[in-house]
Amino acid sequence: MISVTEALEHVARHAQPRPAAEVPLADALGLVLAEDVAGDVDSPPHDKSIVDGYAVVAADLAEGDARLAILEEVVAGSIPSRPVTRGATTRIMTGAPLPEGADAVVMIERSDVSPSPHSPLGEARLRAVGLKPGQNIMRRGASFQRGEVVLRAGATLRPIEIGLLCEVGRIAARAVPQSTVAILATGNELVPAGDVPGPGQIRNSNGPMLAAQVVRAGGRPIDLGVGRDDREALRRAIAAGLAADVLVLSGGVSAGVLDLVPGVFAELGIEEIFHKVRLKPGKPLWFGVHAGELAPKLVFGLPGNPVSSFVCFELFVRPAIAQMAGRGFTGLATRQATLTEPFVQRGERPAYHPAVLRQSAAGATVAPLAWRGSADLRGLSAANALVHFPAGDRSFEAGEFAEVLLLDF
Ligand code: AMP
Ligand code: MG
Repeated sequence: MISVTEALEHVARHAQPRPAAEVPLADALGLVLAEDVAGDVDSPPHDKSIVDGYAVVAADLAEGDARLAILEEVVAGSIPSRPVTRGATTRIMTGAPLPEGADAVVMIERSDVSPSPHSPLGEARLRAVGLKPGQNIMRRGASFQRGEVVLRAGATLRPIEIGLLCEVGRIAARAVPQSTVAILATGNELVPAGDVPGPGQIRNSNGPMLAAQVVRAGGRPIDLGVGRDDREALRRAIAAGLAADVLVLSGGVSAGVLDLVPGVFAELGIEEIFHKVRLKPGKPLWFGVHAGELAPKLVFGLPGNPVSSFVCFELFVRPAIAQMAGRGFTGLATRQATLTEPFVQRGERPAYHPAVLRQSAAGATVAPLAWRGSADLRGLSAANALVHFPAGDRSFEAGEFAEVLLLDF
């Protein structure tokens, strides 16, 4: 049996970043950009007002106060037709192009309008002490200039970057695409969640749970439903799953009479990299690779117990998906926290125990949860973290530091 560290090294070695492809922006959230992107326009494309107000020659406000004839009104999307000269002003709305001649904008809140014999729009009385040229104006190209690189390869595409790509006219970008992750829950006892279990049956909670974990990890899940514990049925389902970049099975990798999965993997030419890892929960974990056209497919056989399945995914599958997405082999965030109560750790396997992490200005504390083992998903649902206790017989005291892995949702 290998250690968690050795197992992670194996997975990291086999998880290769996927080749970049042109991805429509609607599918690009969270992806890593694979090209430098330059602006195809100046932004803003014209000198523009950043407030609703009056475009003026700043020198007209030298006394802090002026009465100016209103020439016209420009709103965002329209273009001024007349230059602003001394003694005159144009009413301008946020985002509208600044008229020629104007060099500042006085906010509308600092104005009163009265009728004027000289202008059908009236005359504006403006108050602005110390108005300087450039005030309330954003200059053409102030954000970026045409041809300037606004995003570098390697950037993660957050909602902000999606908006920025649109600003430079992109509807797609070269990025590392999502990995597809097929999920197959195995077990004769399993029925779909929408069914009422008969005698001896339970519902398939792992399949949808793993699919949700895949989404959280940045992959695209393909739920293959339930596979029977039957060589032929498993062979067909697993072969179909190999079309995805990653295949995740739950169940059938322990030592029971119907734990047929490793045998079927071998029949299908899936090369075993390791089987069984020193950890709890999750000892039966299986990992292998299958030659793919572009890159090897990763195959994970997770233990069937829901908590084991969940923990193994977070520890091993999540960083593999991240690395395939070009984000490096990154797993759950970790931090140190002080134990709120004692914990007795026994045996050769490190534990990843469900826990509640509380963070405050005074620091972080962690409380291991009482739970009823690897089948107790309900107990796990109170957790927002896993607390890691290294292998070996040892009693941890309240107040001691422990490493905590943060569950992100
Ligand atoms: P196995 O790893 O196949 O021996 O399964 C271990 C335990 O996990 C058994 O009690 C199974 O009934 C349970 N189990 C297996 N697969 C699932 C699943 N998809 N959803 C919920 N429980 C499961
Ligand atoms: Mg089973």
